[in-house]
Amino acid sequence: MKYNLNSRNTLLYLIVFVLFVACKQDNTSVSNNGEPLYLDASAKIEDRVNDLMDRMTLEDKVAQMTQYVGLEHMRKAMKNLKADELDKNDAQGFYPGYSIQDIADMAAEGKIGSFLHVVTVEEANELQKLAQKSRLRIPLLIGIDAIHGNGLYNGATIYPSPISQAATWDDALLKEASKQTALEMRATGSHWAFTPNIDVLRDPRWGRTGETFGEDPYLVGKMGLATIQGLQSDNFESGEYLPNHVIACAKHLIGGGESLNGLNASPLDVSKRTLFEIFLPPYKEAVKGGNLFSIMLSHNEVNGVPAHMDKYLMTDVMRDRWGFNGFYVSDWNDVSRIAKWHYIAKDYKEASLLSVSAGLDMNMHGPNFSDYVIQLVKEGKLPQERVDEACSKILEAKFRLGLFENPFIEFGNENEVVFNKTHQETALKQARKAITLLKNNGILPLKGNNKSILVTGPNANNETIMGDWVYEQPAENTTTIYEGLKALGEEKGIKVDYFNSGERSRKMKDNDIDQAATLAKQYDMTVLVLGENSFRYDWPNKTTGENIDRATLKLSGKQMDLANKILAHGKPIIVVYVSGSPIAEPELENQANAVIYAYEPGSFGGQAVAETIFGELNPGGKLPVTIPRSVGQLQMVYNHKPTMYIHKYNTEKKVPLHPFGFGLSYTTFKISEPRLSRESFSKINDTIEVSVDVTNTGNMAGDEVIQMYIRDNISSFTRPVKELKGYKRVHLEPGETKTVSLPITADRLAFYDAEYNFVVEPGEFTVMTGNSSDDKDLKEVTFEATELINLKE
Ligand code: BGC
Repeated sequence: MKYNLNSRNTLLYLIVFVLFVACKQDNTSVSNNGEPLYLDASAKIEDRVNDLMDRMTLEDKVAQMTQYVGLEHMRKAMKNLKADELDKNDAQGFYPGYSIQDIADMAAEGKIGSFLHVVTVEEANELQKLAQKSRLRIPLLIGIDAIHGNGLYNGATIYPSPISQAATWDDALLKEASKQTALEMRATGSHWAFTPNIDVLRDPRWGRTGETFGEDPYLVGKMGLATIQGLQSDNFESGEYLPNHVIACAKHLIGGGESLNGLNASPLDVSKRTLFEIFLPPYKEAVKGGNLFSIMLSHNEVNGVPAHMDKYLMTDVMRDRWGFNGFYVSDWNDVSRIAKWHYIAKDYKEASLLSVSAGLDMNMHGPNFSDYVIQLVKEGKLPQERVDEACSKILEAKFRLGLFENPFIEFGNENEVVFNKTHQETALKQARKAITLLKNNGILPLKGNNKSILVTGPNANNETIMGDWVYEQPAENTTTIYEGLKALGEEKGIKVDYFNSGERSRKMKDNDIDQAATLAKQYDMTVLVLGENSFRYDWPNKTTGENIDRATLKLSGKQMDLANKILAHGKPIIVVYVSGSPIAEPELENQANAVIYAYEPGSFGGQAVAETIFGELNPGGKLPVTIPRSVGQLQMVYNHKPTMYIHKYNTEKKVPLHPFGFGLSYTTFKISEPRLSRESFSKINDTIEVSVDVTNTGNMAGDEVIQMYIRDNISSFTRPVKELKGYKRVHLEPGETKTVSLPITADRLAFYDAEYNFVVEPGEFTVMTGNSSDDKDLKEVTFEATELINLKE
C-alpha cells in the first residue's frame, strides 16, 4: 500500500515534472483567463512576441515574412494583364498558377503575413476574417502607398504631394497631415504606409521627383522625420499600443534619386562619401530621431550590389551603426530580380538566400519566396535566427498596432474620419503654404482692371493637381484650378471661363490649340495651366511619375505651341505650373507676366491657386529643388563642390533658372545680418545660436522662410560650397519684425573623415542666412571650431 502510494506520488511528481520541463522548453504561457499569453493585451509586448514565437513552426514564421496583393487588386490585374506582362509592371500584380481562392485559402491557413493594396473596408475585414481561421489567429498587416494621404482609397483626403509639402518648409503641418493620414488608413483597414520617400533627388528627370522632398539631405531628413512622427507617433519605441497610428516605411534604400540617366531602377554609381553625405543622412535622422519601424529597399543596384542584398547598408550601417530596430521589406518583386535583372543569383531561391542573409525581412510580393526560405533553413544554408529576427519584428509591429485585439474595422466609421472637415482644412493649409511664386512683373495679385479671364491648358481642369499615388477621386472632393478661379472670380465680379485645349499634353490637337488662342483674344488675360501629369489611373498618358522618366525638362507635348500662340496676342498671361517635376522653359518665363509653381497641390489645389491669383493669399512657398535652365545643365544642385563651376558651357549659362530655396512674395522683407551667440565651438554639446531680425517692409501680411547655410571653409576632404542646416517659416504683419534663432550643433558641422568617423574638424566655418540659397540673397558671418570633435555614431 505504502509502496503503491509512494509510487502514485512518484508518478504524479513525474507527470508534473515532465509537464514543467515541456512548458519550460516551449516557453509558452497562459494568462489568467486561460488564453495563451500572446492574446493577453495586458501582457508586455516583448513577452507576447516571445510567447507567440514559441508556438510557431518554421513554416508559420516564414509566412509572416510574406506579402501578397489584395484579392480585388488581383482580380483587376488578372483582367488587365497577361502573365508575360507582369515582369515589367510595378503597379499591378497577380500570381500565375494561383487563383484568388488559392490566396484566400492560404490566408486562412496562416500562410500569409501581410497584404498590400487593399482599398476597401469590406476587403480588409474579409481578409482579417480569413486570418482569424488560422491556427494561431495572427492578424494581417495591411500596407498601402499612402504617400500624401491615402490616395489609392476612393474618397480620401489628398494632401499636396511630397515635393509640394517640402515647398511649405513647415514640418509641423506635415506631421499633422501625416497623423490624419494614419487615422484615415486605420479607418479603412490599412496599418502600414509605404512612405516617406526620403530619396534625395539629384536628377529631376526621374519621374518620381514629385514623390520626394527634393534635393537637399537636411530638408529631406526633416520632412521625412515629420512624416514618420505623424504616422507612427512620437513614442513608437515606448511600448505603447498605437491603435490610431500606422507604421511608416522609409524608402528606397538607396539612391534612386540619382540612378543613371534619370531612369527608375537603373544603377546607382556613387562614392561611399556621396552615399554618406548626401543619400544616407535622411535615413540616419529617420532611425535615430523617429524610431522608424520599416525600410523598403530600392530597385537599383548600388555600386555593383543590388540594394536587396546589400548587407553592408542594411545590416552594418543601418542596424549596427545607427540602430535601426524595425524590419526591411523588399520593393515590388525585387528579390526575384536579383536573379532576373541583375544576374547575380542563378535563380529566385539563391536570390532569396542572398537577400534574407543580408537582412531582408519581408518579401513584396507573392509565392515561392516562402518555400525557398523554408528549404534554405532546412538545408542549413540560412540561419534560423535570421527568420526569427524577421518574424519577431513583424509580430512586434502587429502587437504595437493593437491588431491582435482588434483586427477588424468598424464598418461605417470611415465616413466620420475620411475626408472630414479637419483633414480638408489641413490639406488646404498645406496647399496654400506650398504655392511658390517664381515671377511677378507686378500683375499679381490681380487688380480690378482684369474683368475677364480665360483659363486653359492641359492641367487646368482635372486631377493632375493630385499627383502620383492617387486613383481618381470623386469630383465633388476636388477643386480644380479652373473651379477655384471661377468660384473666387465670380465672387469678385470677374468673368472666368474655361476652354479645354486637350487634357493629355501629348495628345493635344492643333485645332484645339488654335481655338484656344483665338478665344484668348477676347479676354483681358489668360491663366495658362501647364505642366506634367502622373495620372495613375491613366498610365499610358502619364508624362511623369513612377516608371515614366523624362529625357527633357521642357513641357511635354504641344504645350509650348499653345503658350506661344496665346503669347502672340500680347495680352497678359499668368502661367501656373501643376507638376511634381520641375519645368525648365526660360523663354516662356521671360514672356509671361507671372509664373506660379503650384506643384501637385492636392484636393484643394484650385482654391489655393485662385486665392494666390486674387490676392487673398500671399505666396510664401520656396523651391525644395533647383530649377535648371535645361536638361544639359544636370546635375544641377545648390550644394555642389567648389570646383563645379570653374569653367563654362559654350551654349548654356551655368546658373539655374531658379535656385533652391527661392520663392517671391507680394510683400518685401528685410533680413538683418546674422548674429552669433558665441564666436567659437569647442565641445560636443556646444550650441551656437544664430539670430536674424526679419521685418515685413511691405504692406501685405506674408510668410518668409529664413534659411541657414553652413560652409566648412578648409577641410580634409572637399565639402559643398554651402549646406542647408536650419530653417524657419515665419508669418509677419506689415511693419512687424521678428527675431528668428536657429541653433548650430555639432552634427550640423560634422562630416566623415578618412575612416568614416563623423567629426567636426577645427577651423573656420561660414554661416549664411537669408531667403534663398543664392549668394545674393545671403548674408554671412564666420566662427571657429577650436577642437577636433568625434561624434561617435
Ligand atoms: C514602388 C514602391 C511601392 C511599391 C508598392 C513599387 O513599384 O517602387 O515605392 O511602395 O511599388 O506599391
